[in-house]
Amino acid sequence: MTSEANAVHLIGHFVDGRRIDGTSGRRGDVFDPATGRRTGQVALASAADVADAVTAAGRAARTWRDASLAKRTAVLFAFRELVHARRDRLAEVITAEHGKVLADAAGEVQRGLEVIEYACGIPSALRGGFSENVSTEVDSYSLRQPLGVVAVISPFNFPVMVPLWFVPVAVACGNAVVLKPSEKDPSAALLLAEWFAEAGLPDGVLNVVNGDAEAVDALLDHPGVQAVSFVGSTPVARHVHQRGTAAGKRVQALGGAKNHMVVLPDADLDLAADAAVNAGFGSAGERCMAISALVAVEPVADALVARIAERMGRLRTGDGRRGCDMGPLVTAAHAAKVRAYVEAGVAAGAVPVVDGRDVAPDGDPAGFWLGPTLFDRVTPDMSIYTDEIFGPVLGVLRVGSYDEAVDLVNANPYGNGTAIFTNDGGAARRYQHEVEAGMVGINVPIPVPMAYYSFGGWKASLFGDLHAHGADGVAFFTRGKVVTSRWLDPRHGGVNLGFPTQT
Ligand code: NAD
Repeated sequence: MTSEANAVHLIGHFVDGRRIDGTSGRRGDVFDPATGRRTGQVALASAADVADAVTAAGRAARTWRDASLAKRTAVLFAFRELVHARRDRLAEVITAEHGKVLADAAGEVQRGLEVIEYACGIPSALRGGFSENVSTEVDSYSLRQPLGVVAVISPFNFPVMVPLWFVPVAVACGNAVVLKPSEKDPSAALLLAEWFAEAGLPDGVLNVVNGDAEAVDALLDHPGVQAVSFVGSTPVARHVHQRGTAAGKRVQALGGAKNHMVVLPDADLDLAADAAVNAGFGSAGERCMAISALVAVEPVADALVARIAERMGRLRTGDGRRGCDMGPLVTAAHAAKVRAYVEAGVAAGAVPVVDGRDVAPDGDPAGFWLGPTLFDRVTPDMSIYTDEIFGPVLGVLRVGSYDEAVDLVNANPYGNGTAIFTNDGGAARRYQHEVEAGMVGINVPIPVPMAYYSFGGWKASLFGDLHAHGADGVAFFTRGKVVTSRWLDPRHGGVNLGFPTQT
């Protein structure tokens, strides 16, 4: 007889080149958000499980740091081919545990592939400088060397793209990695680790430890971990940065967001309405680059709201495997939380132009549904504005001028991304200069930088100095070293205790 508990699929860890279940005995439930059904249980690592992974990574790091650039890039090229060939499979796994529609999941895989491709070019990115004759017959040159073992801790909303923001770059730089994915959708990370191994990555260079806060804190405290790349909500990012740096680690902790889209009166309103709908409701608003606050500079608001509402009427919410536009929210608890924000918005006096609570989804009624919701006449004191909702809820704030719009955006504690829609190049240029955010779109709604630039916000959206991937990623995962060398010429020499200067 097989009990229901025995039949549940266990999602374990990947350590030193093989799947293991771990020793903690603690487990978390994993759901298919479109059906509401539990599809598996994920092992939640203890500090001892984490220590095993760090030990394996430490062992691997000692030899991987000496692997030639040719060897490292050969593995990365092979990994890129595997991910590319199996991208549909990866997208299916994302949709099954996250809920986002298949086309969106495929887009996420594509953005992750771009970082792998960037890491394939690591020989260029890692090049140092060389100066001949900095002093007579003395040369100076710079190197960048790996840190050792680094931890990557990722959120639920991009189970493939966010791990791939960091892992390929860290590995290409010669580090070993312990990846701790979100416990809500852990399966994709295990596939990535297995495919990396298949591509030739030696055992222990990439380990996946599943778990929750206990595993994260164990990574932050472990003396064998040199650096931590974290992505998640702002309170947790702040905690990770504080605890990690207190333990002497290098930390980049990317946090939450409240992304504003400013629409000036001269904007192309159809373009702006399309962008607001795409960026507001894509992935059910569960994107760190989602637009959640639309700042309409009057007299544009009435026309813009009408255009957005008209487009929202055509959106199909439902199971991501059925060709719908928008999927469910990730968990029942998160759906209830977002629904409570909608209720709070109504109670605070915002105008619900489209109310997602009424949605009739194309999917199992037990799924975690909430339809796209549009509020007009939102004011900055309302919780639907002050808080990161992370759901399909777009609020329109009406302002009287460009200056008022910039002041509103800059007064917000978050500074991840922002966009401006206008046909006035001077206004756009002024906005890019004045706005306090790490990523700016001009007539582009989701300004996620390409892999060869770096991704990161300002203010409460990032704790630490360096952003993800691109040149910042390489800098984060390496330490600089400068060598000054002289090959002895018999004409030189002799004792001189003065401070060395150029001669
Ligand atoms: P989360 O903060 O709940 O979880 C992120 C990671 O931290 C997970 O791996 C989780 O297991 C772990 N964690 C959760 N609580 C913890 C605790 N108390 N102590 C230690 N670790 C803990 O975030 P989430 O809900 O998975 O993801 C959504 C959030 O991530 C949103 O706020 C979103 O804006 C943010 N995000 C930001 C970016 C960015 O680039 N800035 C990108 C993606 C997501």
